[in-house]
Amino acid sequence: MSTENAETHRFEADVNELLRLVINSLYSHKEIFLRELVSNSFDALEKLRFRAVSEPDLLAKEPTLEIRIQADKEKGTLTLEDTGVGMTHDELAKNLGTIAHSGSRAFFDKLKDVDRKDMTLIGQFGVGFYSAYLVADHVEVTSLAAGEHQAHRWSSDAKETYALEPARRVERGTSVTLHLKSDQKQFLEDWTLRDLVTRYSDYVSHPIKLRVETKKDNETTVTWETLNRATALWQRTPGEVTKEQYEEFYKHITHDFEAPIATAHFRFEGTQLFSGILFVPRNPPFDLMMQSKRGVRLYVKRVFIMEDCDELLPPWLRFVRGVIDSDDLPLNVSRELLQDSAVTRIIKKQVTKKTLERLEQLATESTDDYAVFWEAFGAILKEGLALDFEHRERLTSLVRFRSTLDDKLTSLADYRKRMKEDQKAIYYALGDSIRMVSDSPHLEALRKRGYEVLLMSDPVDEWAVDTVREYDKMPFVSAMRSDLKIEPEDQAQREATTAQLKPLCDKVQQVLGERVQEVRISDRLTDSPCCLVLAERGHHAPVEKLLRASGREMAPSKRIFEVNATHAIVDSLRALVERNADLPMVSEWIETLYDQAVLSEGGKLEDPARFAKRITALLQEVAGRQAKS
Ligand code: ADP
Repeated sequence: MSTENAETHRFEADVNELLRLVINSLYSHKEIFLRELVSNSFDALEKLRFRAVSEPDLLAKEPTLEIRIQADKEKGTLTLEDTGVGMTHDELAKNLGTIAHSGSRAFFDKLKDVDRKDMTLIGQFGVGFYSAYLVADHVEVTSLAAGEHQAHRWSSDAKETYALEPARRVERGTSVTLHLKSDQKQFLEDWTLRDLVTRYSDYVSHPIKLRVETKKDNETTVTWETLNRATALWQRTPGEVTKEQYEEFYKHITHDFEAPIATAHFRFEGTQLFSGILFVPRNPPFDLMMQSKRGVRLYVKRVFIMEDCDELLPPWLRFVRGVIDSDDLPLNVSRELLQDSAVTRIIKKQVTKKTLERLEQLATESTDDYAVFWEAFGAILKEGLALDFEHRERLTSLVRFRSTLDDKLTSLADYRKRMKEDQKAIYYALGDSIRMVSDSPHLEALRKRGYEVLLMSDPVDEWAVDTVREYDKMPFVSAMRSDLKIEPEDQAQREATTAQLKPLCDKVQQVLGERVQEVRISDRLTDSPCCLVLAERGHHAPVEKLLRASGREMAPSKRIFEVNATHAIVDSLRALVERNADLPMVSEWIETLYDQAVLSEGGKLEDPARFAKRITALLQEVAGRQAKS
């Protein structure tokens, strides 16, 4: 099939690996090849139309924009053809011989480290063109790039190399011919192709035509049957679009294998005319936390303009995917122009509103799905609480937290309803993990009083809560900060205790020196002997870690060391100090208690070996005593 003019190229090593991965993990979903190839053709048609905005000749000379499918039963080939942008010699080599996209590249590197059979990950990667080898053992791609005169053919049986050579093709665009494996001939049947196209590719806004041969009286007539509606999905009336059609469209634009968790289809006809479809994915994509990627595609008057258009959504909605099609922006709109355009501001405002409404609906109508959404994207949405004053109130109703009540998520409204009558604040605690915060000594007295505590483990929570400050007139108070005031049951008793423990507190301060800002009697402890609390606006441990990890030079914030006056260890220590504060044992104990407090807030010990030694010595002493008794 290739001639002596053909150059032989080796696939980039990772392509071989990727091919193996695709074939081994998707063997039970072979039919996806068709939608992947149609999806590529659709993109190529959209790119052509975009180029024609600045080069109108391209469309004027060859106005046809379509996808054609034809099966040849004799040869055992299936050909998909489009009149899109096409590819030059070099583009063929780059696009079909390497892993060309930087996003794909980053993802592929990640994929190499995970379980090879993880379908959802491969799905997110968008197997694309290489899925052709699920059904074909040889593939030829002939392409004439828009505006070029010489076409080229790429061909390969996916065994390490591919051939590239000049070819004849007069029509702009690309044709992909699959030489089907002998057991995959079902893809030559009209009804199979019809079924697959209508099922997977009806969102395509250009005609997809199937070549149909009918034999009558020994005469064969050929017709081209259009298989799809060929209007942009968002231009249709919402009621007419099926769930499956939305899903396939979503998969086309995101390369996600799983259906989205929520969809919003809208049309605005106010001062601005625009329409669109937005999706909330079910799973976070691998690069979600990266600020850069925002998956909304911008169309202007049905022409695809740009991908990842982040000007149309606030940063805290960067997980939303979809399409927005404006009638008012100019076709030659650039990112710079978008940034300070009044049209953008209006679209952004409406789209934000629409998305929040959809999330509110999800939260009320489908708690389970909302919980899935929250686990995946809650951390991002919460940024909005701190960043976006305008939407703060609505966002406040959307946030969910874990709490000491049970292991479910709770809204602030529900927490508020459950608050005890004498409770004066919304209590929260923040640590490295929910489990760790939930075990934290700081919650002991709050729990004893029956006060529910919100458990947080996202560093962004501190920022959000500190900015919002209160909910329904109730302030947020951290169980870990010094401003937590739990009224002592007996004020006189407390004063007496403080006086009694003064020598101990002084001694502790002397031993710990610069490491703590203050030593005082605790109201928050019941079972633990001591804990460290944050000075008034100090950062919780995970936030401090994060700030330091991001390169911020920071002296560790000084903590307040609180001791539990009712604890037996503290009482013994008090007695020891009264007897002789200079006993070496006294400072040993204080050091050990301090290290324990550091550990329970997820901190790092300055000298872990010494801590271990002290614990061993203590255990040894107890063991010795037990053996004697
Ligand atoms: P993806 O579609 O995720 O980028 P593919 O492996 O499917 O990955 O395709 C790689 C690239 O090859 C595409 O990004 C596109 O540039 C090019 N390509 C594939 N099919 C076509 C086509 N029919 N017309 C023009 N370019 C194409």
